[in-house]
Amino acid sequence: MRKLGSRALTAIAAISMLAAAPAQAAEPEAYKDAAAEGVDARAKLVQEMVDSIFSFQEPGFQEFKTQEYITGILEKNGFTIKKGVAGIPSAWTATWSNGEGPKIALGSDVDGLLGLSQKPGVGEITPLVPGAPGHGEGHNTGMPLIVAAALSVKDVMEANGVKGTLMIWPGIAEELLATKAYFVRDGLFDGFDACIFTHVSTTLGTGWGQGSGNGLVSVEYTFHGKTSHAAGAPWAGRSALDGVELMDVAWNFRREHLPLSQRSHYIITNGGGQPNIVPGEASVWYYFRDHTFQGIRDLFEIGNTISEAAASATGTTVTRRTLGYAAPQWANRPMAEAAYENIKKVGMPDWTEDDQAFVKKIQEANDRKLTPLATEVGELSVPKDVPAMGGPSDDIGDIMWTLPTITIGYPSQAPNMIFHNVLAAMTEATPIAHKGAVAGAKAVAMTVLDLMTTPELLAAAKKYQQDVQFAAETYDPLLTPEDKPAIDLNGELMGRLRPELEKFYYDPSKYDSYLDQLGVSYPDE
Ligand SMILES: [Zn+2]
Repeated sequence: MRKLGSRALTAIAAISMLAAAPAQAAEPEAYKDAAAEGVDARAKLVQEMVDSIFSFQEPGFQEFKTQEYITGILEKNGFTIKKGVAGIPSAWTATWSNGEGPKIALGSDVDGLLGLSQKPGVGEITPLVPGAPGHGEGHNTGMPLIVAAALSVKDVMEANGVKGTLMIWPGIAEELLATKAYFVRDGLFDGFDACIFTHVSTTLGTGWGQGSGNGLVSVEYTFHGKTSHAAGAPWAGRSALDGVELMDVAWNFRREHLPLSQRSHYIITNGGGQPNIVPGEASVWYYFRDHTFQGIRDLFEIGNTISEAAASATGTTVTRRTLGYAAPQWANRPMAEAAYENIKKVGMPDWTEDDQAFVKKIQEANDRKLTPLATEVGELSVPKDVPAMGGPSDDIGDIMWTLPTITIGYPSQAPNMIFHNVLAAMTEATPIAHKGAVAGAKAVAMTVLDLMTTPELLAAAKKYQQDVQFAAETYDPLLTPEDKPAIDLNGELMGRLRPELEKFYYDPSKYDSYLDQLGVSYPDE
């Protein structure tokens, strides 16, 4: 027989693939188109969910209104709800199964940030409730996206007999980096095959590998001294605040000699009562961030040593409480590459002139660089051959070390605004946020269907995790068996603020949008 050239072999292979598997080859694409249509049909629901969660303005561990609202929608749609998972009252899971098949977890953060209450759709800093938390990071947009994606995928699976299970979980207290390691410790993902996470961004994109962020340990040091009259008998006292201040001074001297990839910052959560009483108790809360498990551990140990040295020097004692932990991130390559194909297919939302005018307005009002909304999806983010220089964290890292996981970023934010800031809240209940979430939901739905219908993709994702990720590092969180989720955080604040916040809850039965309810015209005021 004549030897065939490689081009002929490729042609034969292509023909035989077509002949052998026309159904499998065509179906996933048809399923994906149907799921994207399902998301479009839910655009109004996405807007209502985005605006509602924005209006709840709930910080970490207090996401109870968000829990009630989202689980209500999912329960009505046939999901089984479990509240209070991993010992965290505001956490929950929602599960739906169409029989034995791939088990896919879908998540997004839902918490706001302290002090960032902001009227949406305006360029001036205008709190809805002064001093209240708000969505200055856009965590109100991710869960609506996940819900729309999951409901659309569920329709397609039911209509076509696709077997598998979906589990939706919320990122509770992500801004405190305080729950996902507990989800993992509690076995929330046991038996699951893969996880897709989403996060707000200025573009639609994804990536694989370690990424540029850091992991972290969040720890509060409490110094215990001896109270006394600060003028009458100061020699009888030992100031706990002295312990805090000396620790901070020592840390700031040590900072010069730490790796460039580290980030560390602190706030004094208790500095005493009034100046004429020697503080008997004082606390300082540190975030220690680095890009490797060992790097985080090293910072933690230096912090502990310095705290004890400061206690020694001031005649006080010190105790510590771990308030949160986030592993460094590592996104799954085969899943990211599959998701990126879908992202390119979905493309960016069709921004209107009003959307672009709004972005220009808020950038100008806040002295930010003028950049229009992106019209092209982002590049696939891949590891770069440069030393790690650190950055922010997300506790999705812990889940990434537990099962193959990717983050899909979606374009619900204007360029050049600052996250963890009221500037980012301005956009998060506008048509930009709504359209960005719809685009993200399509990319997620399509990627879930890839995972449900392509066993090779799941196998490749697991192989990559074993052969590449686990070969590089081992999941080694700092949590001890005694550490518990810090569910008391923000409780007192919300107990005080909730009646005030309730007046601003969005009512979709009366208003087309939250901007309508607030009397804000878009893009102009
Ligand atoms: Zn975030």
